[in-house]
Amino acid sequence: MTRLILATRNTGKITELRSILTEAGLPHELVGADAYPDLPDVKETGTTFAENALLKAHALARATGHPAVADDSGLCVDVLGGAPGIFSARWAGRHGDDQANLDLLLAQLSDIDDTHRGAHFACAAALALPDGTERVVEGRLTGTLRHAPAGTGGFGYDPILQPDGETRTCAELSAAEKNAISHRGKAFRELVPVVRELLG
Ligand code: IMP
Repeated sequence: MTRLILATRNTGKITELRSILTEAGLPHELVGADAYPDLPDVKETGTTFAENALLKAHALARATGHPAVADDSGLCVDVLGGAPGIFSARWAGRHGDDQANLDLLLAQLSDIDDTHRGAHFACAAALALPDGTERVVEGRLTGTLRHAPAGTGGFGYDPILQPDGETRTCAELSAAEKNAISHRGKAFRELVPVVRELLG
């Protein structure tokens, strides 16, 4: 059985990708990067989600000798020309401070009315093989930004993004509801035929 490494320690992402691969009938053994404690830290020096996902996937494939999958994602706000984009996790300065990032973004958009609050979550998912072969696919979840957070589920910017066709924010959806429409779910599902093509 081919081993496939997913470049994350986030068990939610591993579970989601594993269930997508299993549902598609792919027999690969999916393991998270935490199974390899001595992996080098990868600097995300790319300027797009795709470049950063590829950087991480290649580094992992080289270090483990197994095919590797990596994803990179963020929130892109129309009126900000696509920002925070690749800076989503550290928009307010400190990496991973979800509350500060969300508060800063809401303050920046405080004068923007509902008709101009379009935004989307984007996710690039990359597959790299130890021989350097690479593929990358992308998924999006489009919606509008609320003026105030709502909901307690999810993470990051979930409490302020209301998906198109929804009356609730992402933080008010169940995990299953969000996975069904999310940028990451879409990108991972796009990856299925790619895994099949390259790994059989
Ligand atoms: P990562 O690619 O999982 O590291 O995500 C980068 C950043 O983008 C996160 O820290 C969040 O701020 C934002 N982000 C990515 N995906 C989501 C999502 O599904 N909901 C909310 N925020 C997200």
